[in-house]
Amino acid sequence: MTEISSSHPRYRSLLVRRALADAARSGIVVPEGLIAHGRGEAFDYFLGERSTPSAARAERAAAVWLARARHPVVSVNGNVAALAAPAIADLVRALPKLRVEVNLFHRTPGRAAGIARQLRAAGVPNVLGVRPNARIAGLPSDRASVDARGIAIADVCLIPLEDGDRAEALRARGTRVIAIDLNPLSRTAQVADLPIIDELGRALAGITRALRDLPISPGTFPPFDREAAISDALRTMEGRLGRAATRTRAWGPASRRPARGSGRPTRRAERTKSSRRRSLRRRRDRRGSAR
Ligand code: ATP
Repeated sequence: MTEISSSHPRYRSLLVRRALADAARSGIVVPEGLIAHGRGEAFDYFLGERSTPSAARAERAAAVWLARARHPVVSVNGNVAALAAPAIADLVRALPKLRVEVNLFHRTPGRAAGIARQLRAAGVPNVLGVRPNARIAGLPSDRASVDARGIAIADVCLIPLEDGDRAEALRARGTRVIAIDLNPLSRTAQVADLPIIDELGRALAGITRALRDLPISPGTFPPFDREAAISDALRTMEGRLGRAATRTRAWGPASRRPARGSGRPTRRAERTKSSRRRSLRRRRDRRGSAR
């Protein structure tokens, strides 16, 4: 297997891709999950690969909702298990009443059992959803299968990397939906009561950190401005893309930009500049001699 050098500029991203590819080979992640990850990475690029202040606010608000819920549940699919099983275990340690339920778009008994094994190995003591025994209305086939002790009775459900149908079906039955999704335009983010527009690992860590300072007991749910969260994410992307477009116009193509971090023009840019100056001088000289 190719060694990934820690000096590679996209080292972390390459490690994550490798983990997902391994999980795909072992059957925990389906090929469709790899494609969904690629979509997420693209949006993270636009967001600057960090939690924005708006996302951090959403993570703190999510922690309050989860702390005050009577039956909080986190729904786990293959990508979530492959990328963040230890982070789910940390979340459960910070909020022991949180139920963890395997919930899959592409369900087979073997896959559900494999995901549960991965979660238990990371330190999640009880995993629901391996043998679902209830259904949520409004969803076709397997996607409706849930556990009677978990999603079926959840008042708050955290759904990382989900599809819009499930988010809608949960909301329709009165469950408060907290989504983690890097795409502010996805149906999931658009229908969630509390959309967290952030990368999965960063978002889970943000919620867990916030939970450590909170009283954990049932209570009322403070309102959350979901439209503002979505619009903040879009504005962050708009700002970053706008600045990138301005830089590109100012410097021209990448080959003529200053070397990263040096603040000085690249040799090629210097050569281009001095050859332009030389040809200008030649033109001026020619004009001068013709006059
Ligand atoms: P929808 O049905 O909500 O419109 P979709 O068809 O994009 O969404 P999926 O294909 O299931 O739904 O994709 C899951 C979502 O998860 C995508 O919107 C993607 O941007 C997001 N995503 C993928 N990887 C991550 C990650 N690591 N962290 C956060 N979000 C992610």
